[in-house]
Amino acid sequence: MTKITNHLPTKELQALDAAHHMHPFTEDAALAKKGARIITRGKGVWLTDSEGQQIIDGMAGLWCVNIGYGRKDLAEVAAQQMEELCYYNTFFQTSHVPAIALAAKIAELAPGDLNHVFYAGSGSEANDTNIRLVRRYWDVKGKPEKTVIISRKNAYHGSTMGGGSLGGMTGIWAQGGLPIPDIVHIDQPYWWGEGGDMDEDDFGLARARELEKKIEEIGPDRVAAFIGEPIQGAGGVIVPPATYWPEIQRICDKYGILLIADEVITGFGRTGNWFGSQTFGIKPHIMTIAKGLSSGYAPIGGSIICDEVYETIATSGDDFNHGYTYSGHPVASAVALKNLEIMQDEKIVEHVRDVAHPYLMERWQKLADHPLVGEAKLVGLMGSIALTPDKAARARFASDAGTVGYRCRERCFANNLIMRHVGDRMIIAPSLTITPAEIDVLVDRATTSLDECYAGLKSDGLL
Ligand code: PMP
Repeated sequence: MTKITNHLPTKELQALDAAHHMHPFTEDAALAKKGARIITRGKGVWLTDSEGQQIIDGMAGLWCVNIGYGRKDLAEVAAQQMEELCYYNTFFQTSHVPAIALAAKIAELAPGDLNHVFYAGSGSEANDTNIRLVRRYWDVKGKPEKTVIISRKNAYHGSTMGGGSLGGMTGIWAQGGLPIPDIVHIDQPYWWGEGGDMDEDDFGLARARELEKKIEEIGPDRVAAFIGEPIQGAGGVIVPPATYWPEIQRICDKYGILLIADEVITGFGRTGNWFGSQTFGIKPHIMTIAKGLSSGYAPIGGSIICDEVYETIATSGDDFNHGYTYSGHPVASAVALKNLEIMQDEKIVEHVRDVAHPYLMERWQKLADHPLVGEAKLVGLMGSIALTPDKAARARFASDAGTVGYRCRERCFANNLIMRHVGDRMIIAPSLTITPAEIDVLVDRATTSLDECYAGLKSDGLL
């Protein structure tokens, strides 16, 4: 068999991909006909594909390559760690320096008394861990009946049985018998799409108070925790009204239920602070982390746990019967630690807050003037625009949600910009190192793509 490398023609790589590689969240037969886009290199915010096209990555991969592609210093740390100690586990009363050093660094960066890290290989796994942690916590507290976790519709918390159940995406539930028992969902705080005539702040309060209603309905003695993304990411970069999180916090405090902030996207600088919880004034007992923890250079995730939850479980007199072969993987941990050191040394969070966000905000907001755009939202470097046939009415397209978004995304691809669509919302989350000049390229290409999408809709009689 010929060696499969970057040098093979695109068509051959696509045929091999179609023959043997089953893609996540994909209708594979349809993709096989079309052929996947093959990415061959990355540097900074730029990708190169097998046709030699230079693409600006508006999504930092899957919201993860926060310090940008192609950092040699991270590659060197990985190589060095592989030579020194490629693997050892953290079960059976053992530990190793990369896991220790990374946990100490995470505890230093995390707010409040989030001082303890349980490692996982991904965000989904970390959320599975969280289900185990909160149920174990209440069990040790002598309240084993507190097992229910409340989440939101259209939330995304991963696609394992646990993560997919915590998430509120019906497309995931429909395949495989999810959600698992004792996970329930309230409505999301999506004012533009679901707020109707309500004032945005009132709507935020109303959606938060669904949590209180749900707790009362189930019985406070049955509820273990609430989980939420500070900003829903995969749901469409839905920024909650300012009133939402303070009210959620008040309700969690009132009933004494645990609050889990899923910071897989919002963690590590994405919102202009180290954590989205700081941006929204949330005080979680547990944070889910992954993605930006290693800037996607190595697969690693985890749960950051507050003193009270940690101490309760740690002093129960029994093992916590949970863990993964790759919990605290030495290479992934060493890479993540170096990534966080780079973030600190190069003041990347400050760059987001003081340079990249203000500049992108100026340009992003103007997209709301485009005839196809209903709202333009941006927190830190996490943004979205809603496509609409009628701005004033905040109307949706009559076609199935996603058709127009898909058309727009295809125009973005054609213009060498990666911008994703969620239904008819277009979303971005570029690398945090993006410069103003690169922001200009991103927004210029987005504008061209919107113009082309708009013209296409008109000529097809859809507008
Ligand atoms: N939680 C959130 C908020 C996410 O955005 C994601 C991934 N997009 C996950 C969990 C799952 O992470 P992973 O894909 O690493 O399992």
